[in-house]
Amino acid sequence: MHFALVDNTRQAAVPGLSGNCPGCGQPVVAKCGTRRIWHWAHRGVRMCDQWWEPETDWHRAWKEHFDREWQEVIQFDPAAGEKHIADVRTAHGLVIEFQHSALHPDERRAREAFHGNMVWVVDGTRLKRDFPRFVAGLHSLRRTSHDSVFLHYWPDECFPEPWLTSTVPVFFDFRVAESDDWRRDTLWCLFPGRAENNAVIGRLDREAFVAAALRQERILAADEIVQRLDAQMRESRLMAEQREREIQRGYAANRARAYGRRQRRF
Ligand SMILES: [Zn+2]
Repeated sequence: MHFALVDNTRQAAVPGLSGNCPGCGQPVVAKCGTRRIWHWAHRGVRMCDQWWEPETDWHRAWKEHFDREWQEVIQFDPAAGEKHIADVRTAHGLVIEFQHSALHPDERRAREAFHGNMVWVVDGTRLKRDFPRFVAGLHSLRRTSHDSVFLHYWPDECFPEPWLTSTVPVFFDFRVAESDDWRRDTLWCLFPGRAENNAVIGRLDREAFVAAALRQERILAADEIVQRLDAQMRESRLMAEQREREIQRGYAANRARAYGRRQRRF
């Protein structure tokens, strides 16, 4: 973790310092080596929060967009008797979890239920195949009436399977150093839910993501957009089906008339 309590104030790790975990109160030591970023670690191997994953440069860089007071916030659910550390919890009540490691869908669901108003930001550079798969999947995106919002019938062609059924927005971050590929520079959001069985995928600049998180309780109105697209698509499907029925009725009537004429002729 980035911050521990030293004399009851939050402090970043510096060599030789010791403190206490803001979650469990147990002693933590400053790890200030050259291999990994400077961080605090519990003495011994046990972690107080089983959801906590080792912090990477990627985590740290993201968290630093936000006020220190918003980083590594203890979230307590008295009903469940559970306590977890949110990577970021804004003053507007939005939890942002930055996920580098693979996550089992059951665990993902548990965290979504625990945090409520949350979004995921997923490191899309962990596996070699993640970005090439996404680029290939991009070809099947279809435009919608919303700017920067697209439909995709096979979202598994774009994103790793464990994220496909998320109930909250999942932002994929494919950025790597030394690349000017625009598809890596922007965030790609898989919206929760489906619009007539289509996944809804949004595009958002990372600056816009941070600005929205600083300003409001949601990054985007994902549920409303999905519902609106779903309603639009259902309506046009029903209209097409209606038109089809009318055409069939027209054929039937023509056939009947033609049959009537034949009958009269003979
Ligand atoms: Zn702890």
